[in-house]
Amino acid sequence: MQSTEECASHICGSGDDHGCGCTHDHDAGLFRKDLVKSVFAGILVIIAVAIEYLDPLVSLIPVILSIIVLALTALPIFSEAYRGLRKGERNVNELVSIGILGAVILGEFTIAAEISVILTIGELAESWAYARSKRDIEEIIVNNPRFAHRVRNNALEEVPVDEIVSGEILLVRPGDIVPVDGIIMDGCSRVDESCLTGESLPVTKGMNDPVFSGSVNHDGTLTIRAEKTADNSAYAGIVRLVHEAGSRRPPTRLFIDRFSRVYTPIILGIAGVVLVTTGDPIRAITVLIVSCPCALLLATPSAVLAVIGSAAKRGILIRGGEFLEICPKISMILFDKTGTLTSGVMEVSSLQPAPGISRDDLLKTAGIAECTSSHPIAQAISRRCQALGIPLSCGGERVMHPGRGVLAFPDNEPILVGNRDFLQSSGVLFHEEPDTEENSAEIEVLVAKNQVFLGSIRVTDAIRPESAEVIRNLREFGIKKIGMITGDTSLAVSRIAGQSGINDDIIHSGVLPGQKQHIIDRFQKSGEKICFIGDGTNDGPALAQADIGVSIGSRSDTVALKTAPVVLMKDGLEQLPVFIGLGNRTSRVISVNVFMALGLNLLMILAAGAGWLSPAAGAIGHQVATIAVLFNSAAISFGNSRYRFTPSHTCTDPGCTSCEH
Ligand code: ADP
Ligand code: MG
Repeated sequence: MQSTEECASHICGSGDDHGCGCTHDHDAGLFRKDLVKSVFAGILVIIAVAIEYLDPLVSLIPVILSIIVLALTALPIFSEAYRGLRKGERNVNELVSIGILGAVILGEFTIAAEISVILTIGELAESWAYARSKRDIEEIIVNNPRFAHRVRNNALEEVPVDEIVSGEILLVRPGDIVPVDGIIMDGCSRVDESCLTGESLPVTKGMNDPVFSGSVNHDGTLTIRAEKTADNSAYAGIVRLVHEAGSRRPPTRLFIDRFSRVYTPIILGIAGVVLVTTGDPIRAITVLIVSCPCALLLATPSAVLAVIGSAAKRGILIRGGEFLEICPKISMILFDKTGTLTSGVMEVSSLQPAPGISRDDLLKTAGIAECTSSHPIAQAISRRCQALGIPLSCGGERVMHPGRGVLAFPDNEPILVGNRDFLQSSGVLFHEEPDTEENSAEIEVLVAKNQVFLGSIRVTDAIRPESAEVIRNLREFGIKKIGMITGDTSLAVSRIAGQSGINDDIIHSGVLPGQKQHIIDRFQKSGEKICFIGDGTNDGPALAQADIGVSIGSRSDTVALKTAPVVLMKDGLEQLPVFIGLGNRTSRVISVNVFMALGLNLLMILAAGAGWLSPAAGAIGHQVATIAVLFNSAAISFGNSRYRFTPSHTCTDPGCTSCEH
């Protein structure tokens, strides 16, 4: 039997069941020992009851058997109650202990033994069902790669992954788990990244492709160069997040604390009233036994743990149960644009150099300024320079202006690359007219050197193919307000909004990263519950401000894993409706659990008070309620999800015969 505090420590999911202070231990070996002990005690009780039934005059043998049973099963319950009392906690073990002691004092030894055995066996079943909820989380943690095969002096050695430093050469054989994030130096193979992204189809990889820790190498042998240490690699980030998610104290914790303070005295009061009004101490004992609120206390954490683990295995990382529970309350969804509604893989589409400036000079100047930036615009410019064989020197200082552009000092002549507002406010004079074409799909990037305008570069950014479908799905959940917040000011904003089905009246453009947070705050103050989705570039404050911040994570960038409340590991928005659907279902399951637990507790207290339940039946009923809650939670599965997308295929090797093209 668990005390309120102990049940609550299940809720806080200390992540270390051995420290949860239950009367049993969750360790497999001890679990078996407890089971043997409980079954043995159960047999003794059956014999005692049978003897008492067959020959009520033989009273000594049942009493002796019952005392043995109580020694085996009731002592741990008493010691928990004593521990609680000493700490001054109102502890529900006290209720059971009073019940058992009461029966002993009345000389009802077999009743006391029955209660004690049923509660102990039920507790074991509970811990088994609870462990099932945590199964997926445990599996993720256990799969963390531990060893790597390092190539040194032409010899292969097996070393713990923690010893690997970046730059070392490692061998990954078929069937091996990739130990750290790295780059393939030799070989090609199909790699299963499902533990990172939930994507079940393996990806074909070859020379210079990145591989990520935790993924499984299928058929070829790969030689990789370690790019990160194990601790900074992709899988370690996932393990940390999932582990912490399982250990977080949910908001229900406060309620539990308050609840435990008043619950025990109230029940003692009810049992007292039953005793005085009916004069039947057995009824009062039954009230104490059935009133233990373990089912209620496990209603939320068991559901949350089950979902967090199985979602993580499908590439949806959720930092805590509160982000699931809030899903049905979401009234507005706000998207970042670049990299979120759009693919973020931009292309340079045209160059408009100012008079007297060559196209190559314009591109090269921009490329030099952008060479250290990871912004999609910077990458598009760098890629184009590379394709045209324009060499870029990367010396000097660079100052990023998030949401506006970059200021670089490669030599004495500062370069500015960014949007119209950025160059204007920096005092650059230019006469370039802004785009007016209705269907313009491009973002203009203006370039100036030494305050002299050199021209503009246009880049295109395609909308993600799934954006419109995802937004339609989100509307099906009854979320009517779907908007966009972006730093972009070009006509591309309204085009992307139109194509994806964003509400016209909730488009905020030209917003600097810090202001995104203020806009969300304003909406929240007017009563909206906000879900914000960003790609993680400059979106940190907005992700933190929203009621749920969802980041489209990337395997190579583990920043989102450290900060965002929810991370969709697969590049794209497809998992977003899956997450919201899962949150809605989890909330429903929690409501059913709470209703079931409260309802059964109340019914059983009434039945016990009315004398319709024997103490043994009460103990069975109490455990059935708790186990029903645990099974209801474990049954939340993805199998029933309405929103499942066919995984997109990433194999790019035309010679590959193992997948469909
Ligand atoms: P979003 O909010 O849509 O994700 P960002 O905040 O990343 O967009 O950028 C907003 C605008 O700022 C871009 O459309 C671009 O005009 C400008 N900008 C931001 N970073 C850069 C950069 N590195 N180079 C050039 N322009 C940039
Ligand atoms: Mg963005």
